[in-house]
Amino acid sequence: MYEELPQYPDHLALEEEILAWWDAEGVFDRLRERNRGGPPFSFMDGPITANNPMGAHHCWGRTLKDVFQRYKALQGHDQRYQNGFDCQGLWVEVGVERELGLNSKREIEEYGIAEFAERCKERVAKYAEVITDQCRRLGMWMDWDNDYYTFSDTNIEYIWRFLKVCHERGWLYKGHRSVEWCPRCGTSLSQHELINSYAMLTHPSLYVRFPLKDRKGESLVVWTTTPWTLPANVAAAVKPDAEYGLNDEGDWWAVERNPDATFVRRASGAELVGLEYEGPFDALPAQQGVVHRVIPWDDVALTEGTGIVHIAPGCGAEDFELSRVHDLPVLTPINEAGRFYEAYGEFEGRSTEDVAGPVTIELERRGLLVEAGSVEHRYPICWRCSTPLVFRIADDWLIRADEIRQPMLDANATVHWTPDFYSKRMDDWLRNMDDWNISRRRYFGLPLPFYPCDSCGELTVVGSLAELRERATGGLEQLQELHRPWIDNVPIRCDCGAELRRVQEVGDAWLDAGIVPFSTLGWQNPEWKEHGYATGAAAGLTGADLPDHAYWEKWYPAHWVSEMREQIRLWFYSQCFMSVTLTGKSPYLSVLTYEKLLDEHGREMHRSWGNAIDAAEALQNIGADVIRFMFCEHVPSQNLKFGYGPAAEIRRRLLTYWNSVKFYVDYANVGNFRPGVDAPGELQPLDRWLLERTEQLVAEMSDAYDRYWTPGIIRAFDTFVDDLSNWYIRRSRRRFWNGDEVALWTLWNALVRSVQVIGPVMPFLADYLWRRLRADDAPESVFLEPWPEPRDRDNELLEEVSEVRRVVELGRQARGDAGLKLRQPLRRLVVQGAGPAQRHVDEIAEELRVKEVEFAPVEAMEVRVKPNLPLLGPKLGKELGPVRAALEAGDFEQLEGGGVRVNGHELGADEVLVERRARDGWALAADDVLTVAMTTELDDELRREGRVYELIHRVNTMRKDAGLELTDRIRLTLPAADADLLEHADWIKNEVLATEVATDSVSEPEIAKTS
Ligand SMILES: [Zn+2]
Ligand SMILES: [Zn+2]
Repeated sequence: MYEELPQYPDHLALEEEILAWWDAEGVFDRLRERNRGGPPFSFMDGPITANNPMGAHHCWGRTLKDVFQRYKALQGHDQRYQNGFDCQGLWVEVGVERELGLNSKREIEEYGIAEFAERCKERVAKYAEVITDQCRRLGMWMDWDNDYYTFSDTNIEYIWRFLKVCHERGWLYKGHRSVEWCPRCGTSLSQHELINSYAMLTHPSLYVRFPLKDRKGESLVVWTTTPWTLPANVAAAVKPDAEYGLNDEGDWWAVERNPDATFVRRASGAELVGLEYEGPFDALPAQQGVVHRVIPWDDVALTEGTGIVHIAPGCGAEDFELSRVHDLPVLTPINEAGRFYEAYGEFEGRSTEDVAGPVTIELERRGLLVEAGSVEHRYPICWRCSTPLVFRIADDWLIRADEIRQPMLDANATVHWTPDFYSKRMDDWLRNMDDWNISRRRYFGLPLPFYPCDSCGELTVVGSLAELRERATGGLEQLQELHRPWIDNVPIRCDCGAELRRVQEVGDAWLDAGIVPFSTLGWQNPEWKEHGYATGAAAGLTGADLPDHAYWEKWYPAHWVSEMREQIRLWFYSQCFMSVTLTGKSPYLSVLTYEKLLDEHGREMHRSWGNAIDAAEALQNIGADVIRFMFCEHVPSQNLKFGYGPAAEIRRRLLTYWNSVKFYVDYANVGNFRPGVDAPGELQPLDRWLLERTEQLVAEMSDAYDRYWTPGIIRAFDTFVDDLSNWYIRRSRRRFWNGDEVALWTLWNALVRSVQVIGPVMPFLADYLWRRLRADDAPESVFLEPWPEPRDRDNELLEEVSEVRRVVELGRQARGDAGLKLRQPLRRLVVQGAGPAQRHVDEIAEELRVKEVEFAPVEAMEVRVKPNLPLLGPKLGKELGPVRAALEAGDFEQLEGGGVRVNGHELGADEVLVERRARDGWALAADDVLTVAMTTELDDELRREGRVYELIHRVNTMRKDAGLELTDRIRLTLPAADADLLEHADWIKNEVLATEVATDSVSEPEIAKTS
């Protein structure tokens, strides 16, 4: 006997049950054991930042990773299953700052860098555990005690080696440039951290006069939305070939910006170049000695502002570039925290926002303000703390990108991207990538191993812990790990003999994640070190080994990686950069990437908007299988609308599958049936079809998995379930009632195969069903059963039944359009365009409840043709009237390809609008190939039969409601008014398992169980 299935699946309960069972039975370990030594499938996990519990969006990538690892495992591949945690850098630091209530670098330093580092490590340990639990609940099979943590000393050492290689190639330099800067975090940000971090902000909009020297009463007018930059102004730029005009108030503007004004004098931009003007804040100490003048700049925009641009090289990237061309002084007004320096007088110590008011008031007082308002615009903000960014001149460490750009493009050309157009996105990013700004002025991050020497001018880059030890002049005893503050207490000896200190900066977190194809796989490591990766801050958190180089050779490059599209400029980029630098090759062969998660109404999810769903909530309320199904069904190049509504819809759809399994279990139990390897008798045509259809499912699913195309997996599954339930089971009902073992066996075969192939997507449901359905000698878990080998299929048979199903679908559609219930038999059906379906007259007749089926041209169709007026009007002119009349009268001939001949004109398919309609008395539906028509007229016989079908349906519902077993017999009593139905008594008895049908003085049909 099979264990009975409940009426509805309780997804949450069955998932918990299966999770516990997997653990108890060690299913995953047994799977790994079975695959050991099999062909490797190398997947490299992009690290998840261990800084918060997972959001629902994290479940997307985690699902895809698990789906394909499971698929490859079923195919016998040996895999690593190493999960990764990102552990240092701004994410974690800002998380800890919030936890501790710290809000500036000064407060961190007062708190103590060592203590701060300990808190960061605690936070990582805490959330690594939370994330692990959530991933397990999602069904993700990973080697959980073997995770890599990017703050391990080993990981850091590998980055040091990479940086040393960059230095040896001359790519490493200290840049003095204008960078986007977060005043709260006190650090610059790199190009890849800026994209998409924008907010709509309101800023002041000022039109300001710069009075010209030697030209009394004349001023340049500039426009700015950053008043704080005015105290650092040194020049004004004009477009040399633009025309400028002086209005009667003495103000110079670009004519194009104010075309209606009356200008008393006009001049080209070139003529204004070289003029000197009084700066807006010349009295400030910082401005002493600065000569303000007009410079030429071809890029001055005439689409906004005044056509004259205020230039402050210390406060903008383009301004800074201009300062190099025109040899302008560079005034840097603000410090790391975004506050004004002492040389800025009354502004000293104030933030950029705070000075906007005083600057405006001062300009107003001196008559320099033409107009003050406000403007709402898209403005860059810090991706981590949302503080608006400012430009600052800073000395940052950069890696030159030019030399590696082409090799990276070449490497990307070897990568297979899914969906494929993301390959172009990667190319675009690589073509435009700036030098990589790798330094951050922070605390808990990769310590950059840079030791500049003031004596000899050389830069020493330390490439390993061993090298550090060798060169150290002290401090080694307190070096607990390669982090600040401990690393800063280890000075080293320069080749020239001087003692050197490390620069204070830490590294970009994408260095941490980018190195993992080397650090976790033991690149160039001569000897395998047990737990050799679990070093420094990672000691005690993981047991990960540091493998040897042979291992790296085996697992590098990754066959497959999968992360969200954003990672093109982040992890896909950083690991490609590092990999091409070290090996000249791409670190991955294929990539599956996907878009963003939105709420179910298509809005971005934000905690503050109350529409965010975190992973815990989703898992508790929706369950893992449905979440996984939702992610898999989705086309990854589109944003996904996630929520309880879509989840309920999937749960509802899955019921069809569940019911099919339940149907089998119930009837197999009635007949005490157990399946063997082979069918227990001769297959009927429908059985043969389902057998082939099942093979087709395996082939389609295998193909979709091989292409990493999850929507294809779900589509193949869905159409199979439809065929199984709405064709095979429905067409075979009578056989199941009769305990037909061949039908039971065929259905069983279809169910176990479908459970197998959907297993990677819905592992819990699959194992829950597998444990009930599996043959006695099959493994206990579906994941221990090898993937079914696709075999050749009888495509003719598949095509034949597929055509029958299309005829039936169209017939149903025609009935529906005509408002005719399926239970009402009809007289005649005509099918046009059918091929092999013609061999299935009886099935079609039965499915569509028609007495006669004819395969012939459908004459019940009326073709109406109208002129496509926008095209034909101009073409036919006066002829249009007669043509239209002829078309209306049906006086035309249809041509191949959809056109018509009318009144001596040949009109193309696009020149006419063709409408096909049923003639009176017919219902009709058509697709590209098939046309199906049915007579709609009813006679007494048809009406009576329709009532019998209604009765059968009603009685069977009554049986169910009364809780009768499938085998129970009944006595059926009908109202006297239904006496005419007794003509069909045998038919009725047969359909409702009645021993007797009679009429009596009842008002509704009644049933009674016979003993
Ligand atoms: Zn910030
Ligand atoms: Zn030196």
